[in-house]
Amino acid sequence: MEPFYYKDGILFAEEVSLTDLAMQVGTPCYVYSRGAIEEAWRSYDEAFGGRDHLVCFAVKANSNVAVLNILARMGSGFDIVSMGELERVLRAGGKAENIVFSGVGKTEAEMRRALEVGIGCFNVESEQELYRLADVAADMGMVAPVSLRVNPDVDPKTHPYISTGLKASKFGIPIDHAGAIYEHARSLGSIELRGIASHIGSQLTSIDPFIDALERVLALVGELSDAGIELKWLDLGGGLGVRYYDEQPPEPSRLVVSLMDRLQEMGSRYQRMRVIIEPGRSIVGNAGVLLTRAEYIKPGEIKSFVVVDAAMNDLMRPALYDAWQDIVPVNKDLERETGVYDVVGPVCESGDFLGHDRELSVASGDLLAVMSAGAYGAVMSSNYNTRPRAAEIMVDGNQFHIIRRRETVDDLLAPESVLPA
Ligand SMILES: *Cc1c(COP(=O)(O)O)cnc(C)c1O
Repeated sequence: MEPFYYKDGILFAEEVSLTDLAMQVGTPCYVYSRGAIEEAWRSYDEAFGGRDHLVCFAVKANSNVAVLNILARMGSGFDIVSMGELERVLRAGGKAENIVFSGVGKTEAEMRRALEVGIGCFNVESEQELYRLADVAADMGMVAPVSLRVNPDVDPKTHPYISTGLKASKFGIPIDHAGAIYEHARSLGSIELRGIASHIGSQLTSIDPFIDALERVLALVGELSDAGIELKWLDLGGGLGVRYYDEQPPEPSRLVVSLMDRLQEMGSRYQRMRVIIEPGRSIVGNAGVLLTRAEYIKPGEIKSFVVVDAAMNDLMRPALYDAWQDIVPVNKDLERETGVYDVVGPVCESGDFLGHDRELSVASGDLLAVMSAGAYGAVMSSNYNTRPRAAEIMVDGNQFHIIRRRETVDDLLAPESVLPA
């Protein structure tokens, strides 16, 4: 499905006009398509066919409870990185046993809570973490299910900030050390060795690095099996990219089929493993836009600017990664002069831009949509410059629902207090 398209010159989300929506809820706001989220999740799920598998949505990409709830209703699992995300998943109706817990810095409190609710697996990222988890579980009289997250030292050829599977990265246990740690973990009574996990980066646009990582991980699974350690869960992480500009990432179904074909070829000893995949961006990235209104047009000698009411605090990707996201008018048929503009927000930073050098036909008061904003958008937003965070809207056919009301200044100030007189 094409969730965002023009009808009579107006940009629609499913069957809802974005001009109508902006009139009713104001700007800036994030707008998501339920249909697009469901379709992307299903394309992963169905590609596995009859194989034992679990698609675990990476919550950090978009953690709104309505988004998580839509996925939970379809039977999704979840990949979390904090106790906050754990509570979100539970409130959204996700099943604890379908949660995997990633992240390099799990605290004791997070481990306790995750054990208490009975999550499916801890993806452990260091030896010290393993021992801490063993102690916490022993103290609770429980056994913690564990996969070691190994770092296969594969270059995903993506932005350095979102590469995680290289030797120089803080993530995972170097694959050459993992065997010894498994061997040792075996003797820990409060640890159940359930599987192995790897996640090599984000916004990958080719399948090869995934296959490389799979082969390296399976080689270790084979060695461990020879040593009498039989792992049941094979977690291949997330990281498939989406199209922002002219990238040509493979379809989720193609990635899954390629991985499963290679897995098949690697031999019968691996076929009983449950395969887990942790996509985030590729499920929600192109299912959302950020709607914003042009406040001012500011012509200049060297550069001209469109100052809009959304800013780097609402959408950080351009400032953080120099990411490119398309910016389009919501009403295409307005008679406007065309110019080349930097689209910038009101925040007092020169890094506060949504796009550089964009050719736009725009006047003050017009609505613009920043495309592909469903992943790592709202979740990364902040209150910098005491800007209340944007509303989030879920479109479902010809209906829309406010799934996060716009913050108020009172919301922002509520936790603060002055010194006594
Ligand atoms: C971020 C992350 C993901 C999801 O990555 P995407 O690029 O959004 O698919 C999956 N697994 C882990 C461990 C992550 O840190």
